[in-house]
Amino acid sequence: MNRYHGMKQFKIDIPKPVKIIISLLEQNGHEAFAVGGCVRDTILGREPQDWDITTSALPEQIKDIFHRTIDTGIQHGTVTVLMQRQGFEVTTYRIDGEYQDSRHPKSVSFTSNLIEDLKRRDFTINAMAYNPSVGLVDAFDGMGDMEKKVIKCVGEAAERFGEDALRILRAVRFSAQLGFDIETRTMKAIRKLAPTLENISAERIRVELEKLITSSHPEKLMTAYEAGITKVVLPEFDKMMECPQNTPYHMYNVGEHTIKVMEHVPATKEMRWAALLHDVGKPYSITYDKKNPERMHFYGHAGKGAEMTPSILRRLKLDNKTIKVVTRLVECHDDRPASKGMTSENIRKSVHKIGKDIYEQYLQLVYADFQGKSEYGKNKGYDGFLYEKEQFRYILEHHICTDKSELDISGKDLIQAGCPTGSIIGDILKELLQRVLENPELNHKETLLDIAKTMF
Ligand code: ATP
Ligand code: MG
Repeated sequence: MNRYHGMKQFKIDIPKPVKIIISLLEQNGHEAFAVGGCVRDTILGREPQDWDITTSALPEQIKDIFHRTIDTGIQHGTVTVLMQRQGFEVTTYRIDGEYQDSRHPKSVSFTSNLIEDLKRRDFTINAMAYNPSVGLVDAFDGMGDMEKKVIKCVGEAAERFGEDALRILRAVRFSAQLGFDIETRTMKAIRKLAPTLENISAERIRVELEKLITSSHPEKLMTAYEAGITKVVLPEFDKMMECPQNTPYHMYNVGEHTIKVMEHVPATKEMRWAALLHDVGKPYSITYDKKNPERMHFYGHAGKGAEMTPSILRRLKLDNKTIKVVTRLVECHDDRPASKGMTSENIRKSVHKIGKDIYEQYLQLVYADFQGKSEYGKNKGYDGFLYEKEQFRYILEHHICTDKSELDISGKDLIQAGCPTGSIIGDILKELLQRVLENPELNHKETLLDIAKTMF
């Protein structure tokens, strides 16, 4: 009864609401399949992000069958079906018309043939469909490519990238998420067409770039560099790759070091961006040693990087909250309390300066920074770093005050004790905090009031 050559014996687990949606569509005389990323990820044993459904039903027919729907992208045939309090995108089989500017199809048309819909998809591993009655429909040997662990375009790579240049970056992002290689012809087309990524909007680039750098293989950013992709989407990385580090602390250029650091921080958006940009100021902060003119210094590179970071991330349309945290991390990544002596007092002052809210992340970045250095650089100061980590634990566990807001006294208390109002209050609190940073024992209201009274 079905016209597709499906692998019937092939069974995968699909969530209940997806099963219901598929079978309701079938009961109404249509075809319906789970498709794309969810099929790929389930076969690979990965948790799918979302379940997309492709169907021969037209949008109006989908809306007639299901009570609760949202017109998500009705002109492209996408309707969101609400089922068991979740939303599922149900899209009509579609053929994309001619493409304009390596970006958008001029028009889309609906088809009743699943294979036509699979043909428009980017990579063979993303072009498989599944439903319980037909089994797996794999017209482009996605299974074979999953076994070979390769990302390969459906059809002629250069043509497919010519239609939509974003696919160039998507290829590298899937290779990073799955740990796959990129098939030779596909890679060749990527190299040739990388410059056309300039036609793609910053938002779409950001989404893919962020998935790449937060993946388990952030080192694939090197593939993006070698193919000429970063030159378009993140030219700052090319500058880093062109910046050697002739210092005893390092053995890699700034770009290679950066990749190592990304590999050693947790795979969160904030940490990976911070790692990627922590040394972005280095190429602009080079000086040469007076005694040994071969040897380089990068004084002030963290400040320079913190100056550059907001505009890079704004250009890529990141949200303000992430931009703020990443910028702070870039700015403080080279702050070492050790330079003034690794004492508990200096560490409390460092926590005050950097901020308790990001100190854990700062320590993660410092740790990773060590891992990307030469043997000499790795060892130099590492004991101090371990002590710093331990002291930070202690500060958290014992609720040690490192911020004005944690003082056991407020401006109100000072006024009640007879302190005149005005800027003097802030000055006194600041001085009290200094005393408490030096001696945490002082953080008791009575003690602080006694000290304060000598100041007004
Ligand atoms: P993720 O797990 O990140 O969501 P995904 O494979 O589901 O990965 P989506 O961007 O959600 O990727 O797209 C869903 C499906 O739509 C893809 O699997 C692919 O079949 C198709 N697709 C998405 N973007 C494109 C594109 N630019 N060109 C061709 N096909 C695409
Ligand atoms: Mg998806």
